[in-house]
Amino acid sequence: MRKRKLTFGLFSLMMAASVALTGNVNVSAATKKLSVNRVYENATVIKGKTKKKNVVKVKVGKKTYKVKANKKGKFKVKVPKVKAGKKYTVKSYKKKKLYAKKTVYGIAKTVKVNKFTPSSRTISGYTRPSYKVQVTVNGKTYTKKANANSGAWKMTLSKKIGSDNVKVRVIKKNGKTFTVTTATHTHDYKPIYKTVHHDAQGHYETVTVPAYDEEKTVSHDICLRDGRDLTQDYLDSVKNKTYPDYDEATKKEWGWTEENGYPKLNEDAAVFINENLEIDKWAPTYSMYMGLHGWNGECDGHNYSLRPVIIKIHHDASTKQEWKVDQKAYDEKIITGYQCACGKTK
Ligand SMILES: [Zn+2]
Ligand SMILES: [Zn+2]
Ligand SMILES: [Zn+2]
Repeated sequence: MRKRKLTFGLFSLMMAASVALTGNVNVSAATKKLSVNRVYENATVIKGKTKKKNVVKVKVGKKTYKVKANKKGKFKVKVPKVKAGKKYTVKSYKKKKLYAKKTVYGIAKTVKVNKFTPSSRTISGYTRPSYKVQVTVNGKTYTKKANANSGAWKMTLSKKIGSDNVKVRVIKKNGKTFTVTTATHTHDYKPIYKTVHHDAQGHYETVTVPAYDEEKTVSHDICLRDGRDLTQDYLDSVKNKTYPDYDEATKKEWGWTEENGYPKLNEDAAVFINENLEIDKWAPTYSMYMGLHGWNGECDGHNYSLRPVIIKIHHDASTKQEWKVDQKAYDEKIITGYQCACGKTK
């Protein structure tokens, strides 16, 4: 409280002096004093001159840095390391009232090239204000003047930079080369994919097939006089073992042996096979049956002919192994690594 009163008192005194010297109390906008020295990158102070004893504030991000100008009006505000291209607003306060303000930019010492990748279509950076910037990339040269205040420059290229280096030349106002630099890209790693095929996964399962009758059309010898199914009659006699039993001499005439019974070839075998029956080697043959026109000569002298007959073939219940799919085959895309357009991998 006491200090404030004292400052106010001093200010009144100064105002009085000013009136005495110039005879003018009003300070017009044109004569408001605030100059800020050029601020280079990496600097930690912003220097300048304003009205003596004014408070100078510089806001950087959310923080405000301030200092009081000395009796000659000179000030030095400590700030965090200055970055090229960064904007700083310097405000000079007389008491608590804004007196003057000025915007300055962090100026590059030589040239700064912003980060770029092979897919970038622009190249930008900072250098001294109003200097000419020449960028050479992929055999083409682009020229632009850096901004008069911030020194910022930016070129739009005719195609992506790719893996070429970027040559930057800065030319002073007198036409002489100020600085030359070569900038390389920041690697831009993109995933490398590989397709992995996964076969179907499964297992065999025991499946019960219930008993069933299969209908099949076969040809039987049918008697044209009485309709007797000679083929069926023979097969029934085999099944029921009602065929005649001959003496050994007769059997041997038909090729019978103790070991193999009656040999059955061609038609004699087919009569069984056609109906999914097992060949009964002990039964006399179908040729013998037909030669006798029925075991008891029932159809002797009758004509007969092959006719289609629908028979039922019985299948017992059974089991079978069935493949069950647990996981279908699929393709998986996996990342095997990362690669930049220049070929560098990681
Ligand atoms: Zn690269
Ligand atoms: Zn596949
Ligand atoms: Zn008959």
